[in-house]
Amino acid sequence: MVTRTTHGNVMIGPTAEDLTEAGDATTREGLAAVLAGAKRLVPFPYEQATITQFAGLRSVGSGDFTLQPSANMPGVLHLAGIKSPGLSAAPAIGQWVREWAADAAGLLPKDAFDPSFAFPPRLAELSWEERKRRIEENPAYGRMVCRCEQVSEQEVVEAIRMQPGARDLDGIKRRVRPTAGRCQGGFCMPRLLEILCREGELAAEQVSKFGPGSELVVGDNRRIVPCK
Ligand SMILES: Cc1cc2nc3c(=O)[nH]c(=O)nc-3n(C[C@H](O)[C@H](O)[C@H](O)COP(=O)(O)OP(=O)(O)OC[C@H]3O[C@@H](n4cnc5c(N)ncnc54)[C@H](O)[C@@H]3O)c2cc1C
Repeated sequence: MVTRTTHGNVMIGPTAEDLTEAGDATTREGLAAVLAGAKRLVPFPYEQATITQFAGLRSVGSGDFTLQPSANMPGVLHLAGIKSPGLSAAPAIGQWVREWAADAAGLLPKDAFDPSFAFPPRLAELSWEERKRRIEENPAYGRMVCRCEQVSEQEVVEAIRMQPGARDLDGIKRRVRPTAGRCQGGFCMPRLLEILCREGELAAEQVSKFGPGSELVVGDNRRIVPCK
């Protein structure tokens, strides 16, 4: 498959292989098959333009999705073995879970609930006039943290301050995209670390990529990062 992501990147693949060892998830043969298949559909020198590769595990259950209340633990609902087309099925599964939870716990709809959720605007998508106005109002909009994805310091700060706010590098990436571009964090990571320290009042060694066990720096690093 050759497709476009919602952010405009080109994505090719995947393969589907039955494996016994999780460590075998990405193989030279698998990558070659992805490249050959994509080139047959849309000829392009993908090797030269590739910025990252992903491996995903498909959960395999009893055949169909397992959507069932626990037999042993009242109030626990199992949603397991949701392999393809689990993504397409997610809205319907969500609706079913809501109905189940409302029934199981006697929940009532909240009249004042507003399901809309607005992200702060992306600077790179605004007109030049609007960018200029924002930078004049707040110079942090003019400090470029991520050059690949064109993300300013203020956007990172807003990703940390929003509710629920980002608490680690991947949280920032999912909200406003720094580290998702061509350099994969090579240039912006030290700056993100610095902003997370400042906004979250953290010591540098407390900052992680995705929670405990993925800390970015160890030991005395105050000379590298001006954190607490
Ligand atoms: C390569 C590939 C292509 C696919 N293509 C399609 C497609 O085209 N269309 C389609 O509909 N579906 C597709 N799927 C399937 C789809 O991605 C899954 O069905 C769907 O993501 C399952 O959703 P889920 O929420 O059940 O599990 P996941 O999306 O796997 O979410 C589980 C989450 O739990 C987290 N987690 C795991 N263990 C722990 C733990 N101990 N503590 C805390 N968190 C934990 C994981 O990090 C993950 O974020 C594809 C899957 C793959 C791998």
